[in-house]
Amino acid sequence: MFKKLLPRIYAESIYDIDLSDLKERGIKAFILDIDNTLAPYAAPEGDGRLKSWIGLLKKDCGFNLYILSNNDGERVERFCASIGVPYIAKAGKPLRRGFVKACGIMGVPFSETAVIGDQLFTDIYGGNRLKMLTILVRPISDAEGKFIKFKRFFERIILKNRWEC
Ligand SMILES: [Mg+2]
Repeated sequence: MFKKLLPRIYAESIYDIDLSDLKERGIKAFILDIDNTLAPYAAPEGDGRLKSWIGLLKKDCGFNLYILSNNDGERVERFCASIGVPYIAKAGKPLRRGFVKACGIMGVPFSETAVIGDQLFTDIYGGNRLKMLTILVRPISDAEGKFIKFKRFFERIILKNRWEC
């Protein structure tokens, strides 16, 4: 019943994702969420560790990257400029349109794209709808708005104790 809401891969953080495993699976591109995936909501720009990780993905591993955020233009523009990754703001995840547009621009099929995010109902559901490889990371911070806290309640029910796996 909840299959489309469940990720294919769980990771404690973006830094715990096994990049060589993804290469072996034929992944060539990533669609990344910002808030609570790459950085806390309060961080206007990416920090040094994130910039190094982005560099590793782009230069060393040759992955294509695109940011897809439901947040507003100003926040997303500044953050993405700081890490040098193109973006779509107000993406309306889990609607397909942003994912389709990002893959179209990168020229990569859905089957070779991984979605990385912290929310089941936006990032994971959106990626699963297009049969992308979905990777759930544990949210960086629990400082979140009321609506997201409300969604987290249902996420916990769906995920049960999967984080312990
Ligand atoms: Mg998020």
